[in-house]
Amino acid sequence: MLAVHGGAGHLSLEHLGPEIEALCREGLHKALEVGYRVWKAGGSALDIAEAAVNTLEDDPRFNAGRGAVFNAEGKIELDAAIMDGATRLAGAIAGVSHVKNPISLARAIAEKSPHVFLVGDGAEVFATEIGMALMDPSYFHTTDRWEQLLRARASGDISLSEDNKFGTVGAVARCPQNHLSSATSTGGMTNKRYGRVGDSPIIGAGTWAEDDACAISTTGHGEFFLRLGVAHEIAARVRLLGESLESAASQLIHEALGALSGEGGTGGLIALDRTGRAALPFNTTGMYRGVVTERGEITVAIFEE
Ligand code: ASP
Repeated sequence: MLAVHGGAGHLSLEHLGPEIEALCREGLHKALEVGYRVWKAGGSALDIAEAAVNTLEDDPRFNAGRGAVFNAEGKIELDAAIMDGATRLAGAIAGVSHVKNPISLARAIAEKSPHVFLVGDGAEVFATEIGMALMDPSYFHTTDRWEQLLRARASGDISLSEDNKFGTVGAVARCPQNHLSSATSTGGMTNKRYGRVGDSPIIGAGTWAEDDACAISTTGHGEFFLRLGVAHEIAARVRLLGESLESAASQLIHEALGALSGEGGTGGLIALDRTGRAALPFNTTGMYRGVVTERGEITVAIFEE
């Protein structure tokens, strides 16, 4: 079983338009199909989540990999993390600018280095050492994202929701042996300060997997998710308090996030437990999301549907 997200935001059908909406659903559908093929072939939980996220990273419409948003300097800074629920193996990167599939580099750090987290140039040096090709910055230059930066600069906005047609991507998977994994990949927020890192690559904030509890991948205003340690908090409540996944995930998104500041943090998450229960709460008007069951049935949604 596999769930994916492609970001949350204040979305409306009028704003999106039918064409973009269809493209978005198609992108999510494809990621679920690819992940399901890996599931069918007996892939591990990490293989399934990585394959689904790679598909979304290669899709220029999502804010990860190729379609990443620009920071205030007009540059790309990518963040990603992946975690294996059976072993707690985890890998993460932040602030890389030339890596085509950040989630695969995060996985390589987990599996081929003694470390969990590498940043910036150090992460890219490691990528070349293990034979991963680095991309020219032009690979990540999409007109939509550039125009989005120009609008954000003009309005002084640091934004995840301005024109947030597509956002951060993530996947939570359960393999045929019932092990869990989680993966999250992002370009962060448009017009973010150089060096800013959000929740996505932080193990325990934006990404977490443990077989005894659940797997979580978040999306939204990262600063709030960081301050709440959202992903680990949900898993701890499930494991230690015996709270249901739905209840813990919903409380964090619908109550805790909003209570943290006057304005409230916005966003959502996808979560999966070992029994195959999924929770996909969000406190925005929409979250790009989808699920594929063990029988290959795919559901994709954007709004409350
Ligand atoms: N959580 C991401 C960040 O703050 C943004 C997003 O999910 O859209 O970097």
